[in-house]
Amino acid sequence: MPDTDLSFASFAFPPALLTALNEVGYETPSPIQAAAIPVLLNGQDLIGQAQTGTGKTAAFALPILARLDFSQRAPQVLVLTPTRELAIQVAAAFQSYARHLPGFHVLPIYGGQSMYQQLRSLQRPVHVVVGTPGRVMDHLRRESLSLASLRALVLDEADEMLRMGFLEEVTFILEHTPETRQTALFSATMPEPIRQVAQRYLRDPAEIRIKAKTSTVEAIRQRYWPVGGMHKFDALTRILEAEDIDAVLVFVHTKTATVEIAEKLAARGYASAALNGDLNQAQREKTIEQLKNRQIDVLIATDVAARGLDVPRISHVVNYDIPYDIEGYVHRIGRTGRAGRTGKAILFVAPREIRMLRAIERATRQPIEPMRAPTRAAIAEKRIGQFKQTVFDAIASEDLEFFGSLVDEMAEERGVDQRDLAAALAWLVQRDRPLQTEPGQDDRPPRPTASDEPRGRFPPRERAAQEPVRERPRYEDTPPPRERAPQARPERPARVPEDVEMVRYRLDVGHAQGATAKHIVGAIANEAGIDSQYIGRIDIYDDFSTVDLPEGMPRELLQHLKKVRFGKHKFNLTAMSQPQIKGLAELSAESVKQLRGSPKPRRKRP
Ligand code: ADP
Ligand code: MG
Repeated sequence: MPDTDLSFASFAFPPALLTALNEVGYETPSPIQAAAIPVLLNGQDLIGQAQTGTGKTAAFALPILARLDFSQRAPQVLVLTPTRELAIQVAAAFQSYARHLPGFHVLPIYGGQSMYQQLRSLQRPVHVVVGTPGRVMDHLRRESLSLASLRALVLDEADEMLRMGFLEEVTFILEHTPETRQTALFSATMPEPIRQVAQRYLRDPAEIRIKAKTSTVEAIRQRYWPVGGMHKFDALTRILEAEDIDAVLVFVHTKTATVEIAEKLAARGYASAALNGDLNQAQREKTIEQLKNRQIDVLIATDVAARGLDVPRISHVVNYDIPYDIEGYVHRIGRTGRAGRTGKAILFVAPREIRMLRAIERATRQPIEPMRAPTRAAIAEKRIGQFKQTVFDAIASEDLEFFGSLVDEMAEERGVDQRDLAAALAWLVQRDRPLQTEPGQDDRPPRPTASDEPRGRFPPRERAAQEPVRERPRYEDTPPPRERAPQARPERPARVPEDVEMVRYRLDVGHAQGATAKHIVGAIANEAGIDSQYIGRIDIYDDFSTVDLPEGMPRELLQHLKKVRFGKHKFNLTAMSQPQIKGLAELSAESVKQLRGSPKPRRKRP
């Protein structure tokens, strides 16, 4: 629809409303606004289908405000939203557009807020009520809210309300409003139950459908990062260091994960916080406020808690845990690329989640590129840049008089060069976050992948040219002659990151079955999707082997590894007890003493 030269002034809006829009900074109506506003101004019912971020709030709020009867005290408009956050946001939008409409009152009501407060507010004249279905129904039941004079009703994000199980409440509310009301239903998708609600409760609605939003996704660069489930956190910190980040929203599935990750990031010096359903309304609003005013840069959130979050400085959305469905994904990444900015979305993908990745690509018709791992040199360069900036900032903004004299004094006292002094101070400052990164530190880059890598290898072997090639010991591939058994050979010098604790497992295949360390690494890396750098020491015995794997492997992965076969033989992976490990060590020590000294199994790395 050509809406390029359309302006808000072409609608029959009161001048006060146009002034407000001008102040808010809206220039032209978005497509859904251009299509919906005339219909709603006309008093007609409406079904509006459009994706997140298309401007649906103003599409209904503006015509509603234009048609309000300011002499009526009882609520004349009800907007139902799926979450508290959205209720607050929609109410705030009304307030903002109505800033020059004196006497206007909008009331958000939602669970978690004091009922008493809400009841008191309801005694005063209220023009628009915005609420979640559960709480609105409560008020109707208690008769603390009457919708007898309702003139218009909006179902915002109807599909989300359905998904959250609010269908019954919504129907109840619809039944308790005058049949003469005008009804607008907005939804990103139109599942059958929503169609039925529309059929039953809307009168001859105009249907507007804004095509699956290309602009929202287009303004967002989407990439994925292949992870083996073991080191998502490392990947996250790597991304935080390497990307040009303003603020980041990290999505996880559970409340506990929000807290855990926020704390771990805080321990590493990031201004981070958790946003989850356990926060009360005040805490939650405070957190979002802190994100807006830059006291927080990294917010770890669950889907429900972050719904509708609209903070333009969010430059990155990280899907730490993959979303449950494609819509979830679209909603999440819609939290970035707001207000005309370009956003970046990063999806962590475990091997068994590859299918979801492809489904998202198909549904959004956008390729999701594999992420290029930043090199160690790039990280170092970035840190050096930040370091310099911090120092220059201090020179520009701090009163350094006292410290200047101190430096002079020190130089004089020992006759040292000021350059040496500055160097020593710089060294002290960077100790916790070294400017020169060395191989083998925790900032080892994950391997980048090619997007069309066949299934099976994860992460795929291919390396991008820019990635530093790490020297990796070659595993010996030729099984030693049978006569040497029983014998344990530490075939893989441990290269596992220092902070990973290992557990030793036993596999029911050994020399007799022709197993080699290479086979075992390959099978485990493929089947469990563990990055082979996390597969520790392997010892092969006559008819069994041992392998060290990171502590805390998911149960289902272990279950799966039990069933993996090597030829005709099941791996039958089992964790070894301390006495077993000890017994084995003694046995090996005995038989290989002359050959190469005793391999010392360690349950945990120092
Ligand atoms: P939706 O409900 O469709 O997800 P919102 O109503 O939350 O979208 O609007 C998304 C963002 O776009 C908000 O930040 C809003 O202020 C902004 N916005 C809405 N309409 C316009 C417009 N006509 N011009 C500029 N920005 C707009
Ligand atoms: Mg909305």
